[in-house]
Amino acid sequence: MAEDGLLTISAFARASRLSPKALRLYDDLGLLRPARVDPYNGYRFYARDQLERARLVAWLRRLGMPLSRIRTVCDLAPAEAAAEIAAYWAGVEADTAARRDLAAFLIDQLSGEDPAMTHETITGIRYAALSDTGLVREGNQDTAYADSRLLAVADGFGADGAAAGTAAIEALRTLENTPAPLPGDILNTLSEAVGRANRAVAERSTAEDSGTTLTAMLWTGSRLALVHVGDSRAYLLRDGGFFRITHDHTLVQSLVDEGRITPEEASAHPQRALLLRALDGRAGDASVPDVKLHDARPGDRYLLCSDGLYGVVTDAELRRVLATRGTPEEAVRDLIALAHEAGAPDNVSCVVADTVTAPGRHTGP
Ligand code: MG
Repeated sequence: MAEDGLLTISAFARASRLSPKALRLYDDLGLLRPARVDPYNGYRFYARDQLERARLVAWLRRLGMPLSRIRTVCDLAPAEAAAEIAAYWAGVEADTAARRDLAAFLIDQLSGEDPAMTHETITGIRYAALSDTGLVREGNQDTAYADSRLLAVADGFGADGAAAGTAAIEALRTLENTPAPLPGDILNTLSEAVGRANRAVAERSTAEDSGTTLTAMLWTGSRLALVHVGDSRAYLLRDGGFFRITHDHTLVQSLVDEGRITPEEASAHPQRALLLRALDGRAGDASVPDVKLHDARPGDRYLLCSDGLYGVVTDAELRRVLATRGTPEEAVRDLIALAHEAGAPDNVSCVVADTVTAPGRHTGP
């Protein structure tokens, strides 16, 4: 111990269970400055009350958090630091989920297990889209869009929310004219398109704090590419199973992921509308979409919807309507009717799409 009660770097390293090498690195990076540096020999000395910060830095490094973000977290009050870590972790999990799907797709592809070759051939999609103001709001800031290649739902917010949603979907529509890209390229193509969508939102919405969610699927000719940012959702009805295939970018979803609240508590949480990611025209991580490839199968039915639907209609009801209505038109009409029965406090939008097949086209002599 030094004369002034400070710890030498090796004593501090033992106490904090970090290596002197790591402590020197943290100093160089500005994460943990020594309390005193000897002006003659450059030796570093640390105060005991720096142990807590040293341990926090080490734990955040183990989480894989980038150094710049660690610096931010270390300077926050505990409650704010907790929220920042939750936001970081929600992003990691979403990213991992997207990478897991890509890995599964690549494994399928490289092992020759292409569902399109072993089943009937999917020749396209049949679709319907409907957007409704609901029973309480004065205007409709949602947009629902569908054509033979693109399915999309956007839920605008702020004074220019409707323009933001329209601009985001228009930016994706520019992809319809490009030839179906290679599967490996489509993820980049989609990410770039969302970047353009975010810039379009910035140009089209002049009001502060305006923006939009965006959940969309692009039919590539053999697969569906899914792009998602915000809290609109995509669901899949397949072989009688009903799955949500998007992950909400909301504070409450991150609390659910951490096990701090249950999904039931999330649906009644006062901050359930708080988005962690959206297209709000600003650059940065908060507008980065989840992008993934999805193997469509014959018989699949997809639902894209805004929170105005799933916020008031239960999963069981969504599934029942999707499983029993013959055409996408009937399904979207009846889903919106269900939202109305529940009071439709928000704008309601949905897109329903079925894969269309040509039976036996792949078989031959
Ligand atoms: Mg909404």
